[in-house]
Amino acid sequence: MRRDPEFGTDINQTTFRITRIQSIRAVTMSSYREIKEECYEANLLLPEHKLIDLTFGNVSVADPARGVFAIKPSGVDYSVLQSNDMVVVDFEGRLVEGSLRPSSDTPTHRRLFQAFQGIRAVVHTHSRNAVAFAQAGREIPCLGTTHADYFYGSVPVTRLMTAQEIESAYEWETGNVIVERFKDLDPTQICAVLVQSHGPFAWGPSGRKAVENALALEVIAEMALKALQLNPNAPPIPQALLDKHFLRKHGAAAYYGQA
Ligand SMILES: [Zn+2]
Repeated sequence: MRRDPEFGTDINQTTFRITRIQSIRAVTMSSYREIKEECYEANLLLPEHKLIDLTFGNVSVADPARGVFAIKPSGVDYSVLQSNDMVVVDFEGRLVEGSLRPSSDTPTHRRLFQAFQGIRAVVHTHSRNAVAFAQAGREIPCLGTTHADYFYGSVPVTRLMTAQEIESAYEWETGNVIVERFKDLDPTQICAVLVQSHGPFAWGPSGRKAVENALALEVIAEMALKALQLNPNAPPIPQALLDKHFLRKHGAAAYYGQA
């Protein structure tokens, strides 16, 4: 065994320890440590919940008081991702911290943080059943209580983007068509959308909750798809049942669960 002459320890062990301390220090010294770690953990939930194939997915987590958010770097495989790889960007689009390029969807996330007050995290996936509705150009109708537990009505689909929007600032304009679709909708009551011919975006008050909403979206998309296959004229959930299920979990009069 090789010994460090000065400390009498194994050199490889010492080197390992120093490298580890340096990487811990890099995270600890960042004043954005909390959002980077929350963002990292939320990103890892995407493959765990089988919400992504390849690298088609990303989560961002914001610190609205400081006008910044952390987001997954572009094209990095989930198996090698580290907390300190998260890139911090401000609400004006300037890089604040990070050595890697942020996700190419960053301008879409930024547009949503600007427009939707009260959200702290945004998730984008290409989960298959939600994408099926997006590609069909169809909203996901609320057909039952599983849907109503999470979304207060149909999950809307955006209009098709124009060639000019696609050829200019594509990702920013993607955010704009989402915001346009929510002109008369409350993003805290319907915390997901389908971008037509593309896929879903979901959001929430924390990274973990936004991923939960993205997972719920995929589950209710699969259920709706099957229900519509069995009965293309499946009726929407009665209003009283929609109100009961959504409002017992959300809002001022909520009483469901332990929160
Ligand atoms: Zn995408």
